[in-house]
Amino acid sequence: MAAFGHDGAMSEPLYGTPRAHSVPLGPLSPVLIRSSTSGQPDAETLRACGAGEVAGDFYQRMGHSNCRAFESLVAELEGTDGAVSFASGMAAMSAAIAAHVKAGDRILLAEEIYGGTSGFCLHDLVRFGVRVDRFSALDLAGLRQQLQQPARLVIFESPINPTLRVVDIRAAVQLAHAAGALVVFDGTFSPPPIQRAHDLGCDLIVHSATKFFGGHSDVLAGVVAGPHRLLGPIELFRRRTGGILAPDPAWLLQRSWPTLGIRLAAQQAAALAVAQGLLPLVAAGRVAKVTYPGLPDHPDRALVERQMTGGGCMLAIELPGGLPGVRKAFDRLQHIARAARLGGVESLATLPAFTTHAALSAAQRAQAGIPDGLLRVAVGLEGAEVLLHDLQQAIG
Ligand code: PLP
Repeated sequence: MAAFGHDGAMSEPLYGTPRAHSVPLGPLSPVLIRSSTSGQPDAETLRACGAGEVAGDFYQRMGHSNCRAFESLVAELEGTDGAVSFASGMAAMSAAIAAHVKAGDRILLAEEIYGGTSGFCLHDLVRFGVRVDRFSALDLAGLRQQLQQPARLVIFESPINPTLRVVDIRAAVQLAHAAGALVVFDGTFSPPPIQRAHDLGCDLIVHSATKFFGGHSDVLAGVVAGPHRLLGPIELFRRRTGGILAPDPAWLLQRSWPTLGIRLAAQQAAALAVAQGLLPLVAAGRVAKVTYPGLPDHPDRALVERQMTGGGCMLAIELPGGLPGVRKAFDRLQHIARAARLGGVESLATLPAFTTHAALSAAQRAQAGIPDGLLRVAVGLEGAEVLLHDLQQAIG
């Protein structure tokens, strides 16, 4: 394992790093260790644990076996030095940001970012003297302009929620790096292998593990993947603030891991089939627009082909008749759950006008490309036929 230390001390990382594979011995199901503290053999070991020099099951807030095992899996998937896990996606995102800014710094936050992230930056970070400026991740000339003044972090996501527009990640990263800024990327919507944010140059990759990583609607969790030099301060911040992922959800994430690849592949294939199946409804005027990154008419198709291996598992369906029209269809769904989440084996539909973007006025939503008649569907594992039939009957 790489030598690494906080505050310059040589030690092992206190978070998970990719592990060498070997034939499994002992229990094949992950072992769950709930103990919040562990007995140590001697004074020297106790001292080293307390000083954060060794990764052991010393005290749960400092790291524990199940979270490190999950972190190792994430680091391996993302191709990063390591990963640090948290009790939620927002705990991960806020720690990734807070650990890398200080009073007087300026950060650039995409307008098209998850509301929890903008809420943290605009309500909390600014109280600690950090300046937060906004840019559109779809306007790289605007980002270049903003980067003429020093910025510590550039924060964005792609595909964008709920419009499913795609950002030129590599170009945005190059602009940020040329200006000396780090990129914090929210990869929740399309984990590897659909999109490899690390290969595209992102410095810190944050996931709400509540979504695809968990996949079964029974876990709230988050994780930050990246290089040792950037994870060290995040792990220290986690120790001081206490937002670590607990053993039970970490175990559920370990349990979900072997099926992540096949879940993503099957959900993505179903999403494409449903998107294609809805096109005749567009032709018939029953649907105003279907946006799916895997369709040939997607506005960012060239980027999708360059930086994604498929269109992902989310659909944006615009219905004619605005809010009343989409409400009617939403209430008529018989199979797809009415809920605000994504990435699970259960398909879910949500109304951005009532959930993720409720804080905006209808005019602001329209300007952001979010019509009130928009239905966001997160495709699960029920199979395309069932989902298509449900949407067809609901749309009427
Ligand atoms: N990032 C994105 C893109 C999300 O959709 C969410 C939650 O919906 C989060 C971050 C926050 O994650 P969590 O709810 O696990 O805190």
